[in-house]
Amino acid sequence: MIEKIRKIARDWLTEGKVDVIIGYGESTTPFTTQPIFITQPDDAEKLIWNPLCRLNLAGYVRREVLAGRKVGVVAKGCDSRSIGLLLSEKQFERKNVSIIGVPCEGMVDSKTLRKEFGIPNGEPVSADWEKISVGDKSIPTKEILSNACKICRYPTPVHYDELVGEKIEGVSVAEHDKPALEMLEKSKPERWEFYNKEFSRCIRCYACRQACPTCYCDECFVDSNDPKWMEKGQHSTDLTLWSLGRIYHQIGRCVECGSCESVCPMDIPFTEILAGMSKRVRELFDYESGIAVDEPPPLQTFRYDDPQEFIM
Ligand code: SF4
Ligand code: SF4
Ligand code: SF4
Repeated sequence: MIEKIRKIARDWLTEGKVDVIIGYGESTTPFTTQPIFITQPDDAEKLIWNPLCRLNLAGYVRREVLAGRKVGVVAKGCDSRSIGLLLSEKQFERKNVSIIGVPCEGMVDSKTLRKEFGIPNGEPVSADWEKISVGDKSIPTKEILSNACKICRYPTPVHYDELVGEKIEGVSVAEHDKPALEMLEKSKPERWEFYNKEFSRCIRCYACRQACPTCYCDECFVDSNDPKWMEKGQHSTDLTLWSLGRIYHQIGRCVECGSCESVCPMDIPFTEILAGMSKRVRELFDYESGIAVDEPPPLQTFRYDDPQEFIM
């Protein structure tokens, strides 16, 4: 698989079809990969593909296209949906991005691996689709997938120019909705208590925002001083308002890539919250984020007969 990805990247750079290929490369931090930006055909060798290619690369696509470059990108199902969402919001044009679509068997969080293995102390680390190993200890990859990947509806990219590998079926709607149902069965006061309890642990590092390809405002509402939308401290009301505000901005836009949960140092369970939100959007508006590129997300348009029910 990786040789095919590298060949396409090399060919596109050689032909001048793209100026830069965005993909995954080796990282110096244990259990992670890092986004890399390749401009020379020979450097395509640096691309890698394994279950640690966790983060969503679509935000970098927007940045590079807006800088005037023709972009090629290695995209999993969720990255491709985020690109679709950004196209539907007219952030860039499809002709400026070429997508190497890679069906995804699911990714693993570095946080989970640190809990399972500790910090490697010189032992060799290997990560493939069968197992993750550190020294003599191994865990089957399927057993430690990220929460978002366990309920992924679109592991095969929805948008691509070249597809590398066999298509992989996503889970059914019923399977996807399971973690959301428990949340949505709570009464509104119970849900409010849950949100307050979870969000009060937030340390306002903003890693969730930075990891999300659809958090791209030039000035985030939490950073603005004029107008000042909210306090910047650690009062629990502010913490809840921050997280609810971020999530609210993702209604009908989140593709459930799991990046925010993956980077959150406080383990806030975004997957079940966002899965519930996506379920509500699908049922109310017959819409799944990032699939159609020619219609705006539901909260960016209106119909006279739009449902008026509460989303979260
Ligand atoms: S959410 Fe789906 S496409 Fe994205 S990393 Fe997980 S399994 Fe792959
Ligand atoms: S809110 Fe989280 S899960 Fe949704 S698109 Fe952003 S990073 Fe991905
Ligand atoms: S990543 Fe977690 S701790 Fe950091 S701001 Fe987001 S919710 Fe809060």
